[in-house]
This record gives sequence, structure tokens and C-alpha cells, in this order.
Amino acid sequence: MKKTVLASLLALTLIACSQSEQTTPPAPAAPATETPVAEPSAPAESTPAAETPAAEQAAPTETVPAAETPAAEQPAPQETAPAAETPAPAVATGCSFDLKGTDAMTYADAAGNAVPEIVVAATCADFTINFEHIGKMPKTAMGHNVVIAKADDVKAVAANGVKAGIKGDYLQAGDPKVVAASKMVGGGEKTSVKVPVATIKAGGYDFFCSFPGHEMKMHGKLTVQ
Ligand code: ZN
Repeated sequence: MKKTVLASLLALTLIACSQSEQTTPPAPAAPATETPVAEPSAPAESTPAAETPAAEQAAPTETVPAAETPAAEQPAPQETAPAAETPAPAVATGCSFDLKGTDAMTYADAAGNAVPEIVVAATCADFTINFEHIGKMPKTAMGHNVVIAKADDVKAVAANGVKAGIKGDYLQAGDPKVVAASKMVGGGEKTSVKVPVATIKAGGYDFFCSFPGHEMKMHGKLTVQ
């Protein structure tokens, strides 16, 4: 009985307290209750309102890619720059040229520039290409050599080389279309090839790497002036 009385008393006091709080400002109580009603409706409106800015933010994000488009247009002028570098033939001084090969499947000169053409002096009896593989990859994965052949024969020599396999340095033994060829080397190795200038004087000769697939990128002209 005491507990129920205490409980009811507590309940009463709680009600009293809550009522006293509400009733303390009787006049403001009415506006107070109106305000909470207005408040939930306000946030309810503000929620969709918050979604609207979100949708508006999506629109600005679309304008951001639009800003990236001019950035994508900028690389275009940069692409024209390397195109201007391509037509730079390497004129050999003396009767030899130092050619490099890289792990990126490219030929390069001592300065690291592309070598689209090597110009040989007509006064040389023989011309030597000293070749160094400056990469680190092994011969089996990124082997390089320097093969001299007529430009029209390059595809056939390369195709015969594929048949010869790595054991044959990707060159058919005694291929009559090969004017001269170095051995195939891997990263860190050096080799050389001696070219009889009288043979290539007529023009139309190229140098290339006969490792399968490399001829497409490792290929240049060998001309006599
Ligand atoms: Zn190669």
C-alpha cells in the first residue's frame, strides 16, 4: 500500500512538476505549443529544402567536369611538342655511333634522345654501331640487337627471326637479307655491329631490333652522306 501511495505521490509530483513547468507560464504555454508545431513543420520543409541544395550541388559538380574539358584540351598542344622532336636525325661523328637500348623497348642516343635516323659519313669504309643495353631486364624478356637490312626486307627478316627463336638470337642463320647484325644482349650488356659503308651507300637501309615485336618501335634509317 505504501509503495502504491509513494508511487502515486511520485506520479502526482511528476505531473505537478510537469504541469507546474507548463502552467508556470500559462499565457506563453499556448504560443509555446504553437511554436513546436511550427518547428516540426519548419524542419519538414527544411529537409526537402536541404535536398534541393543537394540537387543544386550535383549541378555544380557537372560544371566541374566542364572545367576539366579545357584541361584535357591542354595536353593536345603538348602532344605536338614530341612530334617536333621526332625528325631529328643523329649525325655520327667519325665512323662510329653509340646507340643505347632501354627497358622501354626504345633505341636512344647517349643523351637519351630518340634515334629515328643515323647519318654515316661517306668517307668511312666501315661504320660501327656500338650498342649498349642500358636497361635491367634480361635478354629473354627485353633482348635487343642491331640488325641492318634493306627497309623493304625488315618485315621478312623479323619474321624469319621469330622462327629462329631466342636460341638463334631471333635471326635466321645466314639470312641473305641481313647486311650485318650484332648479337642479342640483355640489360647491362654491350655489343657492336660493323657495317660496310659501300653496301649501304645506295640508300634505303634501316637498323632495327629483331626481338619479336620490337621492330615496330626499335627501327630507324641508316643513311650515307
Ligand atoms: Zn629489342
